[in-house]
Amino acid sequence: MNKDALLEVKNLKKYFPITGGFFNKVEGYVKAVDDLSFEIIKGEVFGLVGESGCGKSTTARSILRALDPTSGEVNFYNSKTEEVYNLASMDKAQLRGVRQYIQTVFQDPYSSLNPRMTIKEIVAEPVLINKLAPKSEFDEIVADRLERVGLKANYMSRYPHAFSGGQRQRVAIARALSINPQFLVCDEIVSALDVSVQAQILNLLEELKQEFELTLLFIAHDLSVIKHICDRVAVMYVGKIVEIAKTEDLFANPAHPYTESLLAAVPKTDPESGREILSLEGEVPDPSNPPSGCYFHTRCKYAEEICKKEFPELREVKGNKVACHFAKELELNGIAEI
Ligand code: SF4
Repeated sequence: MNKDALLEVKNLKKYFPITGGFFNKVEGYVKAVDDLSFEIIKGEVFGLVGESGCGKSTTARSILRALDPTSGEVNFYNSKTEEVYNLASMDKAQLRGVRQYIQTVFQDPYSSLNPRMTIKEIVAEPVLINKLAPKSEFDEIVADRLERVGLKANYMSRYPHAFSGGQRQRVAIARALSINPQFLVCDEIVSALDVSVQAQILNLLEELKQEFELTLLFIAHDLSVIKHICDRVAVMYVGKIVEIAKTEDLFANPAHPYTESLLAAVPKTDPESGREILSLEGEVPDPSNPPSGCYFHTRCKYAEEICKKEFPELREVKGNKVACHFAKELELNGIAEI
């Protein structure tokens, strides 16, 4: 494992069996996550982006062991104990010991907070579960975390229904930070919020990242959100990573045609930029029956004969990691501004 990495995902697969017939026999698999490998460096925000159904959330859930991976490794380096744990092979008891270092914030702030619990109970719950402090200290911990996310400490006696979507997401972040995690997984955390509130939450997250020395896996389908906060980005398509690059390189010089298409579909804020807004044509292929060769060939305007026959492996091209037979030759269009 790279000495600078906090998380190393190696050949991770999550296949869901498709059963049918009289004996419920396994007739195939939905390959939601298909042989992913990447590293997340300590202190960085690593983005996972792609269209709906590409496997981003299943990847996160497999890393977190909310789903059991079919195979592969998820190596987590605990900088406090200086030990490496393979989360993918740990049993439930072992995982309980590691959960205090890894927290998650989910998309929907309305369903992720229990309406019958007070804000204090919600924020302190991870401390209680992980037995990290006596109950007598809960008021102090909760007040501190609420203030750090921009909420008043005296809100702790209220219930979630008293808060707006943005405030609820702040509560969810306060809860995640209550136990000082090293690694935070954010799964579409701003996609249910208004654009103005989105920017506030992203700015808050950037501040908290520094303050709590966090490393983040940030999942989003919206490239403008990714550009705002991520240091590096992996682009997913039908359960595979097709490109990994630094955020500014990915936006300015994409090396995979799918990345170029995603960028072209981002609405521009500057009408003078002259960028043509394209929508991605064609359907995302069925992950239980992906196309032969390159999975993107059914939608790719650069496809040639080899693309239908040979699967392109992820390899280093122009500083990016790219899975395209023609990544070296193609001159693709990026975007400077969103
Ligand atoms: Fe397009 Fe071929 Fe590259 Fe796939 S391998 S992205 S089909 S050019």
